[in-house]
Amino acid sequence: MAQVFTTSSEQETVDLARRLGAGLRPGDVVLLRGDLGSGKTTFVRGIAGALGANPEGVTSPTFVLVQEYPGRTRLVHVDLYRLGGKAGIDDLGLDEFIGAGDAIVAVEWAEKLPGPVEGAVTVTIEDTGGDSRRITIDAW
Ligand code: ADP
Ligand code: MG
Repeated sequence: MAQVFTTSSEQETVDLARRLGAGLRPGDVVLLRGDLGSGKTTFVRGIAGALGANPEGVTSPTFVLVQEYPGRTRLVHVDLYRLGGKAGIDDLGLDEFIGAGDAIVAVEWAEKLPGPVEGAVTVTIEDTGGDSRRITIDAW
């Protein structure tokens, strides 16, 4: 069942993501959807904070598709923005991270995946004007 939240600042989005992140377990996958500038990377920062990783280390990679951050649980941050066309979890080698079961995997631009990922949490962020964002989480 989807839950819908509204945040009014970057910090509120970080706080929401921290709450979600606190309940994540190794092997969990978070798929982030939403336009450029909607707040996906910001959300990943909150997850990083919850895992004891340094949120400031979470950046929008220019060319790198996958970045890893050490923490209580390893965070694997994937940004598919520059991926031309669509590619599956297996094609991208992400199944290894997911299957290893010792990391949490967060994927920006999950729209580029060809299909759903079994058991994943989907976070959809919409810019509703100014600093307001509608964040739909399915399923927390
Ligand atoms: P994306 O990764 O989706 O491209 P970013 O997280 O990099 O987006 O950027 C989001 C931008 O929107 C940041 O500049 C942030 O300060 C701004 N912002 C304004 N309001 C919010 C909000 N409520 N939640 C998240 N980001 C917000
Ligand atoms: Mg981003």
